Order: sequence, then structure tokens, then C-alpha cells
Amino acid sequence: MQEVKESEEFEGTVEFSPEELNSIFTSEKFLETLSTAAEETHKSGYETAFEISVLEEREFVIQNIRKGGTDSMQGEEEIKEVDGMEFFTKKHGDLLHFHFHPGAEGSVGPSGPDLFIFLDERAPSFLGIGQVGEKGRVNILLIKRPRKIITEEDIEDLEESALWSGGQTAQTQGEFLYEPSQRDTQDALSKAGFENFLIRFDRKADGKYKLNKRSQKLLFGLGSARVNLVFP
Ligand SMILES: [Zn+2]
Repeated sequence: MQEVKESEEFEGTVEFSPEELNSIFTSEKFLETLSTAAEETHKSGYETAFEISVLEEREFVIQNIRKGGTDSMQGEEEIKEVDGMEFFTKKHGDLLHFHFHPGAEGSVGPSGPDLFIFLDERAPSFLGIGQVGEKGRVNILLIKRPRKIITEEDIEDLEESALWSGGQTAQTQGEFLYEPSQRDTQDALSKAGFENFLIRFDRKADGKYKLNKRSQKLLFGLGSARVNLVFP
């Protein structure tokens, strides 16, 4: 296995402990952003996306929420400003790139092209793919930036594997329509070198989101996340 080397391109790294990750995912700012994006995807059937970046002093900023096509955010438009883009002039790094896939049914997982993000050495610490399910409940599959170098062939192999959901669509296997389970999708990703975790956000009676207790435990087992910092 070829390890990813520290790149000279980076201006240092910051490590986020599980406690810090938990405080980001339970913060009001994150939960409100998640709620806005979830409602838009649920209502319109379009993908919605946002990113979490961190600054050297460990502050986190959420980039603006965008709405895009049903295919990899094509023709995207901004729907809400969260922290704006001022942070971009400072040293920063990307912790999470997140987007919702439309459709409440089936397993949640990235499409092949979604994984291409990890071919870039400036990849975020996590890719998150979300699904708005029954009663507004949100599932997010968090995929950690791989420690080994991932190639386009690795992603193509994964796309061709029988257990791969392709993110949203079921694959035909001979004359049978095979729909992979959530477990299948996650196992196929793990086997291809993409460590992943499913976390859930429940919707309370007042419409606000809350990180599910079990997911919180799972987050604590994640270990720390390293974010590579760059100057714009
Ligand atoms: Zn996607």
C-alpha cells in the first residue's frame, strides 16, 4: 500500500479530536444548515450542498448552501449564505464536503464521480453524502479521506462491483434487479479503501435536528481528523 505523503503544498495541518468533531456536528450553526438543505432537497428533489472549512485557530466556517441539478450539482445556485466566503483570504482547510442526494428510499452512498474528490491531494478530511428519509430523518454517510493513494481505476472497479449502489440507482445484474443494502454499500466502500460511517440526525417535534445518541458514540470512535491547511 502506497502511503500518502505530506505535500509541500500544505501550510500545516490541524487535528480535530472526536470531541471537537462532535461539537461541530451538534452545533446550532451546523444543525440549522443541515435543516435548510434537507428541506430544500425534500421539497424540490434537487441536490443541495455545503462545505465546512476550518481556520488555523480551530474556528469552523460553513460555506454557502447551494442547490444543484439531480446530477452532481450541475447548474448550481446559491440558496442561503451561512458564513460567507471572507475566510477564504485566510489560511484554511476543508473538513467536510457535503451534499444531499434526492430520494428517500434505498441505501445512501456516493456516486463514482463523487469519490473523484479523493484523487485531489487537497481533498477534505470527509466527504458526506446525505439522504432525507421518512419524517425528515437525515442519514449521512461520512467517508474519511483514504490514507492510501486512490486511483481512478480503484473507483472504476468499485463502480463495476456487483455490490455497488452507484449512489442512487439500482444496478441490473443479469436479468435480476439487485438493490444493495446499506451494509453492502458500506462494505464495498471499505474494501476499496474508503473508511466510512453512517450517522443519523433525528427530527424533533419542533422541526429541529439532533444527532442521534448512537451516532454520537460512533463519532467518538472515529479518531481524530486531520485537516490540511492552505493559503488561497
Ligand atoms: Zn453525489
